[in-house]
Amino acid sequence: MVNFEQITPPEDGQPITIEGDELKVPDRPIIPFIRGDGIGSDIWPAAKVVLDAAVQKAYGGRRSIAWMKIYAGDEAVKEYGPGQFLPADTLKAIETFIVAIKGPLTTPVGGGYRSLNVTLRQVLNLYACVRPVRWFKGVPSPVVHPERMNIIIFRENTEDVYAGIEWQQGTAEASEVIEFINQKMGKNIRTDSGVGIKPISITGSKQLVRKAIKHAIAEGRKSVTLMHKGNIMKFTEGAFKDWGYELALEEFRDRVITEAELWDETRAEDGVTPITKPGAFAELRGGRPTGDPGDRIVIKDRIADSMFQQILTRADEYEVVCTLNLNGDYISDAAAAQVGGLGMAPGANIGDFVGLFEATHGTAPKYAGQDKVNPGSLVLSGVMMLNYLGWREAGKLVEDGIGRTIEAKTVTYDLHRLMEGATKVSCSGYAEAIVKNMD
Ligand code: NAP
Repeated sequence: MVNFEQITPPEDGQPITIEGDELKVPDRPIIPFIRGDGIGSDIWPAAKVVLDAAVQKAYGGRRSIAWMKIYAGDEAVKEYGPGQFLPADTLKAIETFIVAIKGPLTTPVGGGYRSLNVTLRQVLNLYACVRPVRWFKGVPSPVVHPERMNIIIFRENTEDVYAGIEWQQGTAEASEVIEFINQKMGKNIRTDSGVGIKPISITGSKQLVRKAIKHAIAEGRKSVTLMHKGNIMKFTEGAFKDWGYELALEEFRDRVITEAELWDETRAEDGVTPITKPGAFAELRGGRPTGDPGDRIVIKDRIADSMFQQILTRADEYEVVCTLNLNGDYISDAAAAQVGGLGMAPGANIGDFVGLFEATHGTAPKYAGQDKVNPGSLVLSGVMMLNYLGWREAGKLVEDGIGRTIEAKTVTYDLHRLMEGATKVSCSGYAEAIVKNMD
């Protein structure tokens, strides 16, 4: 067993292990949790109550979680000493026990500290940021048909303009980079520019698309959409799209069909071969190929700006959306807003095996300790975690419990202020209501 400095794994739990391509989950897995800063002290206990109750209800005591407290953020400083926002113990515990869950963390201001969330993703190589977005009946939404949205976004987590490779305007480094590019590469960057680099690799792109397609297969989803801005950034975003198709056909040929292939089948049905004007044909057929993909997953791509329109006008044509880091950041929040906002949006950062499930909002310090905020984001991240363990029955109980609680208009302050005739409950009161509504 791994040695930790200041934490001790629970003796009555067992570690999750990896066998071949899969996780082997014991009946009482050790799962590390980071409570989180600010409202973490409110939402974590509420989420734990709900998750434990669901597991108990689903498996009648045969399965349970051995929670293991680990530290990050303000709590870590108290426990491990000044400056210790992310102790080595914490990273080691997540790596060792493979599946973990966390509340929000404050990004330390000043002192040269990096965002703890970004550090966790990079150190543990959690290359996929996964965000399911669906609507719960009764949640106020700014669109007419929020029920049409049920997508899961796979956002690349380690590359793109987020890689942190940039130089401030006026520094010697910026001047050197500009000089190199202008003189050696024959470009013409203004000399008073700041400069950032956008690396997109085959490795980063393919490992993400592979994960998205595997998810689509496991969950019976019908399509995977590669979202990119390849019409402008050909060698980065365009390449991401090309590598995505390449991987789909190399590794999943018998399980997928590309949208172009589906168009060919549609045209063949209509006797419109050879193709002369594909655009005109698409318009004629209402923009959708009518060929039958059967149980094959349709791999398609969309330009990023068009995708923002599509999720508003034809959200039900998208299921798994796979995209680069910056696009993913934007589309995740835009999609979440469409179904009622970030307070309910769950997320996870996932690598080859390690999965770190988390609330997507921040620490909302003004509400900390008031037992007031909505624990929905962390609870739904817990649902993702239960599904990741293969404990789907428990995950379903929680989702149903939340659905019924919202339908009964029992909600926390954030939804209460938007819903007529609703009953306002506390953070812990909401958790209790979800548990009651699981049956
Ligand atoms: P925030 O903590 O997400 O809070 C912004 C607002 O969102 C809150 O004032 C509240 O709105 C609403 N909100 C957030 N969580 C809610 C919940 N559970 N229930 C109901 N409403 C909720 O964003 P911030 O104030 O910009 O960031 C505060 C700190 O969090 C910063 O240190 C930031 O770095 C950190 N952060 C961490 C993460 C993470 O750990 N993943 C993510 C984002 C930010 P109302 O005021 O309208 O009620």
